[in-house]
Amino acid sequence: MAHTQHFINGEWVDSISGATRTIVCPANGEVVAEVAEGGKEDAEKAILAAREAFESGVWSSVPASQRGDFLIKVAEEIERRKDEFARAESLDTGKRLVESEGDMDDIAGCFRYYGKIADSNPGRLVDAGDPAVVSRVVYEPMGVCGMITPWNFPLLQASWKIAPALATGNSFVIKPSELTPSTTLLLADVLDSLGLPAGVANVVMGDGANVGALLSSHPEIDLISFTGGLATGQKIAESAAKGVKKVALELGGKNPNIVFADADFDAAVDNALNAGFLDSGLVCSAGARLIVEETIAEDFVDELVRRAEGIVMGGPFDEAAETGPLISEEHRDKITSYVERGIEAGGRLRCGGHWGEGDLAKGIFYAPTVIDQVSSDNPAVQEEGFGPVITVETFKDEAEAIALGNDTEYGLAGGVWSSDQGKAHRVSSKLRHGTIWINDYHPYIPQAEWGGFKMSGIGRELGPSGLEEYQQAKHIYQNTEPAVTGWFPNKTTNK
Ligand code: NAD
Repeated sequence: MAHTQHFINGEWVDSISGATRTIVCPANGEVVAEVAEGGKEDAEKAILAAREAFESGVWSSVPASQRGDFLIKVAEEIERRKDEFARAESLDTGKRLVESEGDMDDIAGCFRYYGKIADSNPGRLVDAGDPAVVSRVVYEPMGVCGMITPWNFPLLQASWKIAPALATGNSFVIKPSELTPSTTLLLADVLDSLGLPAGVANVVMGDGANVGALLSSHPEIDLISFTGGLATGQKIAESAAKGVKKVALELGGKNPNIVFADADFDAAVDNALNAGFLDSGLVCSAGARLIVEETIAEDFVDELVRRAEGIVMGGPFDEAAETGPLISEEHRDKITSYVERGIEAGGRLRCGGHWGEGDLAKGIFYAPTVIDQVSSDNPAVQEEGFGPVITVETFKDEAEAIALGNDTEYGLAGGVWSSDQGKAHRVSSKLRHGTIWINDYHPYIPQAEWGGFKMSGIGRELGPSGLEEYQQAKHIYQNTEPAVTGWFPNKTTNK
């Protein structure tokens, strides 16, 4: 059943203030739900419930293999309720149903992966150099984790945090984006129905300035894990620093997609479209910065533009649609100004650059846009636009391709296209980004770490490192033959 209330301490509850927020589908402006709008007092209640659950040991003391079995059941339940989850995700985000269905498969895969490796880190024995000593390092849960997620992949980003946090015995409070809370609530329903003890998982809705800010500053939060934009990440890191909290940040990207002249032309054009326009470019790793070898640039961009002009925009359930809307009016205004500034700074608009027309005018659409002839200091090249916009730069040789690919404050992901495997490998090893695709773009797998170099983040999600984020090491040194040290001689004193 669709929930609209917060999930706190095992109960579905309204906001203490009684406030609500209307969730609207950005594809057509229709109301999706009226959900509780939380404030600091709701977040406080959830944090204290999570603390109590953690200290009681109801979850943290459950053997890791049993926690793993639980996560595998969560994966199965998401698969069983996939249609319900995918529809809810599409209504909140406006993204095509087929894309939401793909997200749900990935989410189930993430829970299954962490289910399988939940007991994979039992710690290690250390040789203390004394046969009477048993010295071991154990990995314990962090405690209470605060989680803040964005609107572009609402449940996928949540699952990268929740699955490893539960696998390692933590309790948590999550604040989904205020624009897209529905699937996080559905997940809470699954956790509850499978018997997760009350207080271990809590969902509080609300805005960043209130609920988000409290999560990142509250003394009872041990780890704050955030996915979202750079400016918000900086604020969260600042406030977490005051409380000396562990921080994990997955921030934005300005991701180079580098195409050499010897690449398979059709595959590279097709994947450049996919890199930049999949999910309307609302992907942190979108290949929004296309960097093409000079000798093929004209033909390459002509073909890219021809294909981009043919992309059909539409709502989640429109079977002809190939891409969906943006998220809000405010977001579209940002993209509009970003494209205008890119053109003012010398870029040439090759296609797009306008809002959706006709029936699409009811929603928040922006046409797939290509801007070429940009210099590397053009704001459209340097800023994360976060929309369906590809800028095109050209290069003469390998060294210039690498220099352009690294000419960004971000470092999340990038692509390299070449039929010369040695060159592709050389270039990828010099790019300072957390994920590099060679002759492909976008795939990621839960077994492999995901995260940013430079200003794209701190820490890693997915893979074994994603599990370790939610643990802390403890050294236990045990002397099995206690003895007097003699360090301070046992003297007789006057008193
Ligand atoms: P955002 O930073 O505006 O918001 C993200 C979340 O932070 C929301 O839940 C919001 O309510 C909350 N928030 C806002 N202000 C806050 C504050 N002061 N304190 C605490 N929380 C606050 O980002 P967005 O627009 O929702 O998402 C888009 C951004 O997310 C893009 O920059 C994108 O690149 C990034 N992203 C990164 C990854 C990754 O894996 N690196 C994945 C997805 C999205």
